[in-house]
Amino acid sequence: MDPKDMKPATLAAQAGGAIDLQSGGVVPPIQPSTTFVRDRNYAPLNAANTYARDHNDVVRQAEQVLAQMDGGAEALLFPSGMAAIAALFRTVPNRGRVVVQSGIYWGTTKWIREFCARRDIEMVEVEASDTAALEAACAAGAAQIVWIETPSNPWLRVVDIRAAAEAAHGAGALLVVDGTAATPILSNPLALGADMVMHSATKAINGHSDVLAGVLVTRAGGLVWDEIANDRASAGAVIGAFEAWLLLRGMRTLPLRVERMCQNAMAVAEFLEDHPKVEAVFYPGLASHAGHALAQQQMTGGFGFLLSFLVKGGRAAALEVAGRLNLFHRATSLGGVESLVEHRHTIEPHTGIPENLLRISVGIEDADDLIADLGQALGQ
Ligand SMILES: *Cc1c(COP(=O)(O)O)cnc(C)c1O
Repeated sequence: MDPKDMKPATLAAQAGGAIDLQSGGVVPPIQPSTTFVRDRNYAPLNAANTYARDHNDVVRQAEQVLAQMDGGAEALLFPSGMAAIAALFRTVPNRGRVVVQSGIYWGTTKWIREFCARRDIEMVEVEASDTAALEAACAAGAAQIVWIETPSNPWLRVVDIRAAAEAAHGAGALLVVDGTAATPILSNPLALGADMVMHSATKAINGHSDVLAGVLVTRAGGLVWDEIANDRASAGAVIGAFEAWLLLRGMRTLPLRVERMCQNAMAVAEFLEDHPKVEAVFYPGLASHAGHALAQQQMTGGFGFLLSFLVKGGRAAALEVAGRLNLFHRATSLGGVESLVEHRHTIEPHTGIPENLLRISVGIEDADDLIADLGQALGQ
């Protein structure tokens, strides 16, 4: 079967058909060599490989699976999500203009702000889940990149990707979507008109909290894409073969993990919403969520594994709840098989995050156990 015709679950489980023809192994081999030989006529033994900064088979294999799962033409892996984001924004010329969603992953906002300041690039920050506000920001001037993150972290806001693509294209910009909290399993921004999608593969794509990686996927290539690919090879922000191999291995269960995490997250969100000690729950799967109807259209098979909630009683009460949890590890990051809790205000006190907000990443444990843990931590 041509990988192009495979559904994501098949592509992922079979690592895009990556059997090792030489040994007959059903998993791809890892080639750690940094350099590749030429014959006596100085022709490469394998025309696809010369030096590991440009070429590695298992990296290509992982990129192919990622491109196919996202319905894109090509994918490029990076050693972290931030390296992928930086590679994209480095294509913006000095004195350019970018439109960036506000209230997103803090590391992204911080890096883009500093980068734009250094390069004299105008950075417009806008609440992109407000479509009219995003359209106005795009209409106010030509731009190179419009950056959205949906669902956003940690607010779980949902952005209308189709409308954002139209607005971005009207400004002559590329629409790039950070799809980390949705994964290619729950949402396909490229099919809705986005030009590129970025995932921190450190999160659910790898799913086992043991690989740092990022990926960019393009719908159709183009000049900016070529520039990013060239810059990656020249500047050397490449992922190692072993990390790419682990990623390919982690991805084999991605659809299964995401399905279970979504079911668990929905159950947890419903439990929290009804709890007397909880002030509010932010999860796009809840009918009470402002972006619920849009999420139903844009996300298929679930609403993700990430949610935030406000604990009644302020900062001290929220920290007490986090401190009493036994199953949820108190740690940053998200998308792994194990559930995590984070008090965002401790990490980023200056960003307007409420002091009583806890963000949780729901793993694949038994939902009843997770709910019981939250119940005892909140005090029933
Ligand atoms: C973690 C994260 C990133 C950054 O990815 P790294 O792999 O940690 O560099 C970007 N966007 C979102 C939404 C994230 O959660």
